Amino acid sequence: MERIVVLGGGVGGTLAANLLARRLRRQIGAGEVELTLIDEGGEHVYQPGFMYIAMGGERAERLHRPERSLLNDRIKLVIARAKRIDHAARQVEVEGGQSIGYDWLIIATGARALPDEIPHFTEEAHHFYGADAAARLRAALDAFDGGRIVIGIAGMPYKCPPAPLEVTFLIESELRQRRLRDRSEIHFCSPIGRAFTIESVSEMATPIMEEKGIELHTFFNVEAIDPERRVVQSLEGEELPYDLLILVPPHRGAQVVIDSGLAPPSGWLPTDLHTLEVRGTERVFAIGDATDLPLSKAGSTAHFEAPVAVERIVAAIEGRPPSAKGSYTGKVMCFFEVGDGKGTLLQFDYDHPPRPPRPGRIWHLGKVVFNRVYWHTVPQGRV
Ligand SMILES: Cc1cc2nc3c(=O)[nH]c(=O)nc-3n(C[C@H](O)[C@H](O)[C@H](O)COP(=O)(O)OP(=O)(O)OC[C@H]3O[C@@H](n4cnc5c(N)ncnc54)[C@H](O)[C@@H]3O)c2cc1C
Repeated sequence: MERIVVLGGGVGGTLAANLLARRLRRQIGAGEVELTLIDEGGEHVYQPGFMYIAMGGERAERLHRPERSLLNDRIKLVIARAKRIDHAARQVEVEGGQSIGYDWLIIATGARALPDEIPHFTEEAHHFYGADAAARLRAALDAFDGGRIVIGIAGMPYKCPPAPLEVTFLIESELRQRRLRDRSEIHFCSPIGRAFTIESVSEMATPIMEEKGIELHTFFNVEAIDPERRVVQSLEGEELPYDLLILVPPHRGAQVVIDSGLAPPSGWLPTDLHTLEVRGTERVFAIGDATDLPLSKAGSTAHFEAPVAVERIVAAIEGRPPSAKGSYTGKVMCFFEVGDGKGTLLQFDYDHPPRPPRPGRIWHLGKVVFNRVYWHTVPQGRV
């Protein structure tokens, strides 16, 4: 009997488990394979919706569904927090004392947003990396009556790299609609020497920022907040005063992979670029935000990685070499909002940088439709 465990029931883990359940249908039916997914909350969360809570028009209750309702019946679901992965003994220890053995493990434990790592973040700054935080940002925007808005990044890497720029563009549009733009300044702080990590995306976004009068501050890595003077300070020594402060919190990988000695203190699992195996282990794969791959931490990354790990496991169980589907090319695809009902599309891989099309209504509508059809497509592997 081959035991496969998928750890994490987010985008990557749910898709990987469903694909395995379909491709190993016969072996599971014959009792030759057992497939288990472990998830701490038992609820699947659609995180891109958080941004739309902050921007108005989305409700938290529409962004989660029971994990069981998204899983193939052949998958056993264990709802518990994994405390430790004992790779020598090939078992996952979960809270409550149970240990779940594996022959194959896919780690899809995502990334954590940790605002508390920056003193005064919670009292002074807003963010949209959780439903409650996004609702508080919405309330702050509703109460905003003009002033200085500063949007910055308090640590790299973070989930959905375009999100802070998208939020900047969407807030700018909103302020114009509310006739508050003349009374407001918008400052966007980028940790590197341009507006966005990928050069072609920066080239697309920078003229839009200039046209909209958004001030760009480069090499501004948020280090500290001074609540008395209401200024945010950068590692590079710059200070910016704010009336409304919006920061991407620092992110780390899951505690369980750090505690298990599989990842360094950052929590990002050392992952092979193409096979997605966790380096230094055997039969252990990492997908989604949990990896240290030089790519966007995005649902679409997890979506394109899951079939790679699945193909490699299925091939091994079937006793054949993996097909080309078992090698990840670095494919990522994300919609990117630029405000005023327009968007663009970022599509790239390890060898081909994105060439974003001219922003238009179609790409904004693409994102709106995708947000609705997500539940019936991505987790089940229907796109
Ligand atoms: C505001 C915002 C906007 C975004 N917009 C986009 C977008 O437009 N496009 C896009 O592609 N992506 C977007 N993303 C990113 C996307 O949501 C993530 O990249 C994606 O969810 C990653 O999938 P994952 O499977 O790696 O992790 P997740 O979906 O985060 O799932 C991780 C799972 O692991 C479980 N888990 C963690 N630790 C344990 C443990 N110890 N024991 C048991 N279970 C555990 C968690 O409960 C969770 O269910 C956005 C994210 C945010 C926050």
